[in-house]
Amino acid sequence: MRISRVVVTFDIAPSRARPLSDALQVLDGGGNVNVRIEATDGINDVVTGTSSTGFGRLRSAPAILAKILEEELAPEIIGQDPFQVRKIRDILWRLTDYHGSTGLTLLAIAALDVALWDLMGHAVGQPVWRLLGAARDRMPAYAMVGWLNFSVEELKPIAEKAMAQGFTGVKVKVGCATLEEDVARITAVRSIIGHDRRLMVDANQIFDVSEAIRRGRVYQELRCFWFEEPLRADNHAHLAELRSTLDIRIASGENDFGKRQFRDLFERRAVDIVQPDIRRAGGATECLEIAAMADAFDVAYASHGGGPHLHLLAAMPNAIYMESGFLPDGSALEDGCIRMPEGPGFSKPSWGH
Ligand SMILES: [Mg+2]
Repeated sequence: MRISRVVVTFDIAPSRARPLSDALQVLDGGGNVNVRIEATDGINDVVTGTSSTGFGRLRSAPAILAKILEEELAPEIIGQDPFQVRKIRDILWRLTDYHGSTGLTLLAIAALDVALWDLMGHAVGQPVWRLLGAARDRMPAYAMVGWLNFSVEELKPIAEKAMAQGFTGVKVKVGCATLEEDVARITAVRSIIGHDRRLMVDANQIFDVSEAIRRGRVYQELRCFWFEEPLRADNHAHLAELRSTLDIRIASGENDFGKRQFRDLFERRAVDIVQPDIRRAGGATECLEIAAMADAFDVAYASHGGGPHLHLLAAMPNAIYMESGFLPDGSALEDGCIRMPEGPGFSKPSWGH
């Protein structure tokens, strides 16, 4: 089977009526880049695989990513066997080395990699999680619903909705101007979810070490489950220093690029929980290898976002959570978990009630 065609399209999202925000940035609308890869053995029907890369902000980014895909990367994979996904990854890393294979380039490599795994699933008529050698057939999910632009009073009904949908963990953004405001947010959510369910906090890289220590001591007093992105994501030495100072679990990884940056994170003992983003990490193949490394370092894995990541988590013995937003109205988790879908490729869950 050979890759015969790569089709790249993009769209720009309308502005959000009410932008979401965290301590670092405002997510006011970005867009999506959609990739479709076609492959054929010359005898049977054409098999396709797709991926979609979303941007929460930066409306110019989808067009730039699409151009990298169309003009640099896609021509290099025509004629390749789609099942040789690691060979294709190596070709693309070498090709882009001159201007840097991380950053936006890696999002492009990831977009092709995810579409290739989807194509492989369709070629054999199986969900991707079954191809990978699964460790489970359902995955715990938590609700990232406590954006920083929501007031303390707004957070309460948000937490109630998460509980009604069967989530057993809720994440809240922190990094307000004062620690007292952070505490008010945590306390409000805790008053709804109780002490048996988990509450995670996410600072989106906003603190320096001393402020992260000061606030982290309070978060751990409030029994928060993990302290996410307390510091700049690329300062692994400072993350390690913080982790050795605090008792609370340190989580980071959504802004690390490629397995070698993650190797450094693990070698420095900088995190308890690693949180790769499938776009920035470099795709499904790269996430699987990062998870295997993490497992050997006794680091737990919790995905940044869901989508195709759900299938990968099934194959990771050290995976503890998929990050999720609210489920579609009327849907609920089963015992806090998402059941793995049975459709081919990166199929989506069919929500039960
Ligand atoms: Mg985060």
